[in-house]
Amino acid sequence: MNLQKNVPLKPYNTFGIEATAAIFSAVSTVEELREVLDFSKQKNFPYLIIGGGSNLLFTKNYAGIIIKNELKGISLVNEDDDFFYVKAAAGEEWHYLVLYCIENNYAGIENLSLIPGSVGAAPLQNIGAYGVELKDVFFELEALNIFTNNIEIFKLNDCVFGYRESIFKKELKGKYIVLNVTLKLNKKPTFNIKYGAIEQELERMNFNELSIKNISQAVVNIRTSKLPNPKEIGNAGSFFKNPVVDEDGYKKLISQYPSIPVYPNVDKHYKLAAGWLIEQCGWKGFRKNDAGCHTKQALVLVNYGNATGKEIYDLSTEIKQNIFEKFAVELEREVNII
Ligand SMILES: Cc1cc2nc3c(=O)[nH]c(=O)nc-3n(C[C@H](O)[C@H](O)[C@H](O)COP(=O)(O)OP(=O)(O)OC[C@H]3O[C@@H](n4cnc5c(N)ncnc54)[C@H](O)[C@@H]3O)c2cc1C
Repeated sequence: MNLQKNVPLKPYNTFGIEATAAIFSAVSTVEELREVLDFSKQKNFPYLIIGGGSNLLFTKNYAGIIIKNELKGISLVNEDDDFFYVKAAAGEEWHYLVLYCIENNYAGIENLSLIPGSVGAAPLQNIGAYGVELKDVFFELEALNIFTNNIEIFKLNDCVFGYRESIFKKELKGKYIVLNVTLKLNKKPTFNIKYGAIEQELERMNFNELSIKNISQAVVNIRTSKLPNPKEIGNAGSFFKNPVVDEDGYKKLISQYPSIPVYPNVDKHYKLAAGWLIEQCGWKGFRKNDAGCHTKQALVLVNYGNATGKEIYDLSTEIKQNIFEKFAVELEREVNII
C-alpha cells in the first residue's frame, strides 16, 4: 500500500485549487483499493475517491485520504447481432475510451467526446452532452460495496439515472466505489447530429461522409472553441445544473421574459438554460481577484490562477442568490463541493 502524507492536490483537480490531502494513495488494483479502505476504516479517516478531479471544488485541505483511481483496462467482452459490449476500468480516461471506440467502429459515445475525467465517475452524474447521456449506452457496472467489501453488479434500472443524477449521488452516496463500466455500443450507428451546432460544424468541416469519427471531430471542435481548457484556465465545466420549473413557474417566466430559452421536460416541467439566467444578471466575464465567470460561457466558473476554493464557492453563492432574486429560480451546483 502506497500512502503519501501532505500531498498538494493542485495537479489532481481541474480547477487548479491549492489544497493538500493529509494522506494520498494512488490505487491500480482492486486489492490495493481494499487495503486503503481497510486502513481508512481502522484509523477512522474519511476518504474520497477521485478520478480526473474535473467535477470537484476543494474549499479546504482534505483531512482524510484521497484515493486516486488508476484501475486500467478496456476490452470487448461480448457481442451479438446488434451490439458490442465494451468493459472499461474506472480509472481509464473517458475521452481515451471514446477514441478507442471510434477507432474500433463501436458507435454511441461519439457525442460525448472530450468530456474530461474518468470512466468510473461517468455514471455518478450520468455524463451528457450534445443530446446523448451515458444512460443511452450503459449496460452495467461493477462497484465495491465499502461496508461489505463485496463487488456488486448494477444494471441500467438499478442506477436510477436522471439529468446529471444517479443513485450514487443520492441514496447510495459514498457507499460504493465504481470499479468498471460496461457499455452497449451499436454495430449500426444512428447518427445524432441535431443537437447544438454539430450539423453546422460538419458542414463547415466539409466532410462528404457522415461517420462517428467525423461527429466526434465536430464535437471536439465545438467544445474547444466554446469551453476553457482546464490546462490553461482552471474550471470544472458547468458549475450549475440547468434548473427545471413546473408549468406555473414557466408561465410566469415566459410572460416576464418572452425571449427566455425553455426546453420541454418530462411531466409538464420545463428546463431552463442556467447560462442564460446567469448572463442576464450580468455575471458573464465577471472577475473578482482570480475567481470569475468565463467570458464565453457564463455557466463555467473559472480560476484565473490563484483563486481559493472558498472564493469560487462564495462567487457561486452570490450568483445563486442573484438568480433567485431576479427569476425566483433556485440554481443547484453540479460540481461536488469538498
Ligand atoms: C472543461 C470541462 C467540461 C466538462 N463538460 C462536461 C459535459 O459536457 N458533460 C458532463 O456531464 N460533465 C462535464 N464536465 C464534468 C466532468 O467532466 C464529469 O463530471 C466527469 O465525469 C468527472 O470525472 P472525474 O473522474 O474527473 O471525477 P472527479 O471530479 O474525480 O469526481 C467527481 C465525483 O465522483 C466521485 N467519484 C469519482 N470516481 C469514482 C468512482 N470510481 N466511484 C465512485 N465515485 C467516484 C468523486 O468522489 C466525486 O464525488 C466537464 C468538466 C470540465 C472541466
